[in-house]
Amino acid sequence: MKCPYCGSARTRVIDTTRGEGSIRRRRVCKQCQRRFSTLERAILASPLVVKRDGHREEFDRDKLLSGLRIACARRPVSADDLERLVDRIETHIRQLGRAEVSSRVIGDRMIEELKTLDPVSYIRYAIVYLGLEDLDAVRGEIDRLLAERNQ
Ligand SMILES: [Zn+2]
Repeated sequence: MKCPYCGSARTRVIDTTRGEGSIRRRRVCKQCQRRFSTLERAILASPLVVKRDGHREEFDRDKLLSGLRIACARRPVSADDLERLVDRIETHIRQLGRAEVSSRVIGDRMIEELKTLDPVSYIRYAIVYLGLEDLDAVRGEIDRLLAERNQ
């Protein structure tokens, strides 16, 4: 690993942190003594996403993230929480090992994750995703959620 500051190939690992599906290494350059980090992660292709209308598109994590940000606006959910949530979804669909995956699989997973992360964001997302069209439907979903939590 070359030092990004001076280009020297003489670097030393001073710390290793294992994350979910990745390894971060803190390094020091023996030449200029500066420190930097490297992130190592497996590169796996994500399957194509088959939309409801049948057309296919690349898995787009930015699109998922922007949908989540809207659902979680002004809620106690950090940017890190959202990144990790999308990481888990991406890992999940890759582990299915298929060339294509239905957008439903992603949506269902997303909704399950949100339910645990933040109930209010979950309801906001559910209104769009589950197509809850009136107050009764929203109320039904909230009742169901409350019943699940009280179990
Ligand atoms: Zn250096």
